Amino acid sequence: APAPPPARHVFSDPAEVEALRGSLLAWYDRCKRDLPWRAVAATELDADRRGYAVWVSEIMLQQTQVATVIDYYNRWMQKWPTLQALAQASLEEVNELWAGLGYYSRGKRLQEAARKVVSELAGRMPRTAEDLQKLLPGVGRYTAGAIASISYGQATGVVDGNVIRVLCRLRCIGADSSSPAVIDRLWAMANVLVDRSRPGDFNQALMELGATVCVPKAPLCGECPVKQHCQAWRRKLFGKPPPVPDVEDCGVGDCPLCPPATEPWDSSLGVTNFPRKAAKKPPRAMRTATCVLERRGCRGAPEYLIVQRPSSGLLAGLWEFPSLPLAQDLQVEKEREELADHLQAWMGRPVAAKGLQFIGEVIHIFSHIHQTYVVYSLHLDGDVTLDPALSPSRWVTEDEFHASAVSTAMKKV
Ligand code: SF4
Repeated sequence: APAPPPARHVFSDPAEVEALRGSLLAWYDRCKRDLPWRAVAATELDADRRGYAVWVSEIMLQQTQVATVIDYYNRWMQKWPTLQALAQASLEEVNELWAGLGYYSRGKRLQEAARKVVSELAGRMPRTAEDLQKLLPGVGRYTAGAIASISYGQATGVVDGNVIRVLCRLRCIGADSSSPAVIDRLWAMANVLVDRSRPGDFNQALMELGATVCVPKAPLCGECPVKQHCQAWRRKLFGKPPPVPDVEDCGVGDCPLCPPATEPWDSSLGVTNFPRKAAKKPPRAMRTATCVLERRGCRGAPEYLIVQRPSSGLLAGLWEFPSLPLAQDLQVEKEREELADHLQAWMGRPVAAKGLQFIGEVIHIFSHIHQTYVVYSLHLDGDVTLDPALSPSRWVTEDEFHASAVSTAMKKV
């Protein structure tokens, strides 16, 4: 069996755990933000509806700020108030509502999982974190723990980015916080800490603390309800690790949870010495030529051609202006020619590269891609017959474009 972690990095005193739970929950009761899914979790009597509401909110909140999510969540629940309603929606409708929220596979998988609950589980949500994770596509360990604790009262912890930060500071964990060894320790700690009678509130309180007080750059330690349990804060105040009775200092040597010897405590950083992360890989650079094809519609208003992306991969199933990925070092004239050839396939007639008007470049950062769209436009006279053998395509007015399942990047274009 692996050696137990040094006492400095765990909560081993039951009295301290009890005190921390009490302080955190009291603070949460006073200061928590009013969020629509919290109201459902607190008042809805139907357990499946509670689970569904928390599930939708948790999936939307992955990688996305609360302020952005509220409006999407309200519209979603208005359109699909139950799992059964969502199971009957089309992917196109889901993508339309999700447009602008990013990470589009989240909406798709949510809908697939709703269909599974209805068709294979008789419409009943799994009630434990273990079953949620096992049975629902797109539900990972964190989301399963959040749904089970908040909706069904299971005493199980959660670890998300906010919780990682708070726990690493509370226990001076300075090893790479994305490493499996540290993540395992944090899950174990979250499961020890979670309040047995109010697990959902406790988990939300810990995340709320990370989102509003123990924030990444300038944490508000003076207002923190758990500062008396925080070793990073005490270390900042006293300038050295707090003594732990009967335990040797593990700040030197080969402790797997302390900062590496090559990057010791930096007093100018204070509590923000924790957590530490390995450097991220820089995003991959990509260039894509895209063309806004415009024609005069039958009612006289301009219309634009949009085409649907493949049903898997980045931005799956979303609509975009005809686009073509480019090699990085292509000359401008060559880019224009390649785009003209590509458009020719759509139009079924020759397109002169010289006719393409360069408009400008649009940069959009996806999580792992630094995308540059090289934007051209082309005005068309007369009718154009689109080849039905190619991907689905349609002409839309500007209003229809904005109501379609298009990404934020295409709206920028
Ligand atoms: Fe975070 Fe500061 Fe509170 Fe410690 S005292 S948990 S560092 S806000």
